[in-house]
Amino acid sequence: MPRLQNALMLTDKGYKDLKKAIAACTLTNFSLMLPFGVMLQVIMELIKPLTGGELSWNRMWLLFGFGLVAAGIVFFCHKNDYRKTYVVSYMESENARTSLAEHIRKLPMSLFNSKDLTELTTNLMGDVHTTEHVLSHIVPQVIANCISITVICMMLALLDWRMALAAYITVPLAFFIIFASRKIYGKLHKKHVDSHLAASGQVQEYLEGIKVIRACNLDGEKFGALENALRAMKRLAIQMEFGTGVFVTGAQVVLQAGIGLTVFLGTTLITDGQIELIPLLVFFMIVVRIYGPILTELTLLPEFLYHRIAVNRMRNLMAVQPMTGEAETEIKQYDIKLNNVDFSYNPDGEQTIRDISISIPEDGITALVGPSGSGKSTVARLIARFWDVENGSITIGGVDIKTLDPEHLMSYMSFVFQDVILFNDSIYNNIAIGNAKATHEQVMEAARLARCDEFAEKLPGGYDTLLGENGATLSGGERQRLSIARALLKDAPIILLDEATASLDPENESLIQQAISTLIEGKTVIVIAHRLRTVVDADQIIVLEKGQLSEQGSHEELMKREGLYHRLFTIQQQSMGWSV
Ligand code: ATP
Repeated sequence: MPRLQNALMLTDKGYKDLKKAIAACTLTNFSLMLPFGVMLQVIMELIKPLTGGELSWNRMWLLFGFGLVAAGIVFFCHKNDYRKTYVVSYMESENARTSLAEHIRKLPMSLFNSKDLTELTTNLMGDVHTTEHVLSHIVPQVIANCISITVICMMLALLDWRMALAAYITVPLAFFIIFASRKIYGKLHKKHVDSHLAASGQVQEYLEGIKVIRACNLDGEKFGALENALRAMKRLAIQMEFGTGVFVTGAQVVLQAGIGLTVFLGTTLITDGQIELIPLLVFFMIVVRIYGPILTELTLLPEFLYHRIAVNRMRNLMAVQPMTGEAETEIKQYDIKLNNVDFSYNPDGEQTIRDISISIPEDGITALVGPSGSGKSTVARLIARFWDVENGSITIGGVDIKTLDPEHLMSYMSFVFQDVILFNDSIYNNIAIGNAKATHEQVMEAARLARCDEFAEKLPGGYDTLLGENGATLSGGERQRLSIARALLKDAPIILLDEATASLDPENESLIQQAISTLIEGKTVIVIAHRLRTVVDADQIIVLEKGQLSEQGSHEELMKREGLYHRLFTIQQQSMGWSV
């Protein structure tokens, strides 16, 4: 793969388009020499009377005509280079964003444990934006200018090689200064990016936790941390601008010294009679003309050099292997088996699940219970292959889920989680997410069965009401009913319910229980519940303790054993009798 393609992380098509963009920019640069040539001819015509000649109006009109044609050519070249440079680079970055998002979607959940959301968002939006800017505003223009300046100076060398050399020599010197100082930019930029990430993380934490911060009177402490992060970011931004500025200004001064050099040499040569006035004027005008764009590009060049950090971050993310597996294997039975499963979130840390073997029958309700932190949610997540087990295996209908494509596996499951994730969209669309192929009638039927009618119809826009960020406008019970409607619509054979009826008032709880009863009919159901009275009718209750299987059986059997379940159940029954 060519180095430039690799450095910019371009697809083959993107690289081909970049070459076209460079060609288009070079063409524009040359086209700009046309009006310049016409102007030179006009000046030469105008000074004819001063040198004893006669101004020819016919020639002037002809030059005017050429001027118009040149303007037309410049216009078309600009249009072409605009389309090739900007449109194409925005298309390339759209592709990059989509493939990055697509890749992230398939990554193991363990990655989301180690990378926080701010870093992923920065990757997706910021890094692609940096590459997009480098691709649209820097690389094609800089390369095209280097090509055109070299060609122009080579042509000028035909007039006078000494003057051409004087005009050209400072260009590579200026670029050299920028490239030579790239390590310093790299360091400054990395520090700046890290401080930016830290500040973004603090802002996010502050905004998300604003309720808790106020309730616990942590305003001062938390705001202090945010203020420090923002101050550090400002300090490092100034440091970076200053560090970059020193070298950029140095490079610009060296470049502009080329004007002085050309003027000095030109004056010496004309005094010695070694150059005519007209070629000398040509040199002076061209030097001023060609240095202009380079002066701007020198200020942008550091961005190209430190965009490596953004590219490396994207590269690292793309290098993480997604979870793969068969997408065709059909699961015909839905009994779930965990065989000697071990698992830990942190490979070097304590094991969260230890040697668990359980069997969850098809078409029945299995409840996972146990003290807080005993591993109930973890078992449910392992069954959904959010993580892969460390030892042992999990099978559904005899098929090891490690061999299944996670998305394919997901098509067999519906979740009703404690934290319902809602999108900033209408109620209708939030339900329809459950099944992209569902008809309008099916969506409305699911909404009705999940008892969403009761709140949706009271809202001004009904089902078209927009929910705001993560459904902030709905109550906890309403959010859960909406998530049940989603699961109903999906109609998957395996249902995972995580604390679905926690923290609800009795009226809401009874509505949700009704909705859940409809949802779980004839399905393999795994319920994670804290309140044990809600699972007394379950076909099987699995009791976990410190990541291990403690007991297993029906409510009656477990009560008779007088073990952990009996203890937890009795404590909860007693606490229900308490009043405050
Ligand atoms: P609860 O009833 O309080 O929800 P639980 O029985 O469902 O608890 P899990 O959520 O499975 O317990 O957690 C089991 C252990 O794993 C806990 O010690 C918890 O701190 C840890 N844990 C849970 N999720 C993660 C995670 N994403 N990364 C690291 N550790 C985790």
